[in-house]
Amino acid sequence: MSKPLLGCVADDFTGGTDLASMLVKSGMRTIQTIGVPQSTVLDADAIVVALKTRTLPVRDAVTESLEALRWLQRVGCRQFYFKYCSTFDSTPVGNIGPVIDAMMEELGTDFTIVCPAFPENGRTVYNGYLFVGDVLLSESGMRNHPLTPMTDSNLVRVLAPQTKQQVGLVARSVVAEGRDAIRAGFDRCKEKGQQIAIVDAIENEDLYRIDEAVADLPLLTGGSGLAIGLADNFRRTGALSVSTDAAKLDPSSGRMVLLSGSCSVATNAQVEHWLTDHPGFKINPLAIHRAEDLASSAVEWVMQHDEPVLVYASAKPDEVAQVQQQLGVEAAGQLVEAVLSAIAAGLRERGFKKFIVAGGETSGAVVKALNVKGLRIGASIAPGVPWTQSLDGEPIALALKSGNFGTVSFFEEAMRQCP
Ligand code: ADP
Repeated sequence: MSKPLLGCVADDFTGGTDLASMLVKSGMRTIQTIGVPQSTVLDADAIVVALKTRTLPVRDAVTESLEALRWLQRVGCRQFYFKYCSTFDSTPVGNIGPVIDAMMEELGTDFTIVCPAFPENGRTVYNGYLFVGDVLLSESGMRNHPLTPMTDSNLVRVLAPQTKQQVGLVARSVVAEGRDAIRAGFDRCKEKGQQIAIVDAIENEDLYRIDEAVADLPLLTGGSGLAIGLADNFRRTGALSVSTDAAKLDPSSGRMVLLSGSCSVATNAQVEHWLTDHPGFKINPLAIHRAEDLASSAVEWVMQHDEPVLVYASAKPDEVAQVQQQLGVEAAGQLVEAVLSAIAAGLRERGFKKFIVAGGETSGAVVKALNVKGLRIGASIAPGVPWTQSLDGEPIALALKSGNFGTVSFFEEAMRQCP
């Protein structure tokens, strides 16, 4: 058993999975934990502690992030990574800046970088300006985000009010020249008294160049893209073996079920596609009298089928609006999550050990109902959506998909690729 090399703190669950998938793809055996674990014995090259701190009050986000960081230090990680969204989801008070400040102080380091760019996914940073596809962040849909509206695209300006430290820039012209130029860029920032540098990247190659330059920094901060070349750094020092099948999961046994509580455009299309050839059980929130009763009926219905089936609450926007109008947005969401969680728990008791779940919040609820505390990350079914295996007890295979991920045949592909 080897000690983990890279310790990551992610500010939300699906963001954590995204990063974990990237690390697996680059050859690091990766475990994602849900919150800070009790155990300190984990066999992996990288650990991602997934928190839910993106929109918490600043003080709580800092406390939880530090708790995760200290745990990662205790288990022996050598380098640390704070993962936030590639659209830099934050407000003028945080939480990105305050968490970076606190982590830097804890690690006793006077310099780190901020790099949310992931060119392959349409997130580029040029002269400190963040682009989403062809448009500036402030002209993208993020402008109207309900919790973290992004109305300025200049990351130096966005980060400045969030941090106690000075923010500088390492521009693309420097990044293009490679490792030594980038390091010289860091030195120039430090000479100016800047402790945090926004680093430009407009193509994936830039991320590899940056990664080479940051091999010795104790703390890195960014989206999932920045992790693209970190495995190479550890390989260069001999800390990471050159050829590991990092995505390998144990073969899983037991029956499979698909659960969907996502009403996103992509999920609705996936549900429709599935139903053309496979059975499905629809949950209508307006017809739920007692969540337990409906869950029992759904479990019985699933048990009557030999093949994997789908239980779904997914619905088109007009239907969702009607439900929300009658029950309230939050109450409707909680009701559906309670039913799907109860179904998952009921099926687990009946020997089901493979769960494909659609919906970010829904996945969180199901994982909790199944008492899953940590996941080993396997191969990706779609970008950012891997098959995973629970760590404690008898392993459960889980594919957890947030809203808009995956092609129209995601459910069928996930079923086919189950380890
Ligand atoms: P996504 O990742 O697509 O955002 P989530 O699971 O995070 O999916 O969120 C979807 C929310 O909508 C959940 O709280 C879920 O319980 C709720 N929901 C699912 N189906 C319905 C429905 N038919 N009517 C109202 N709310 C629903």
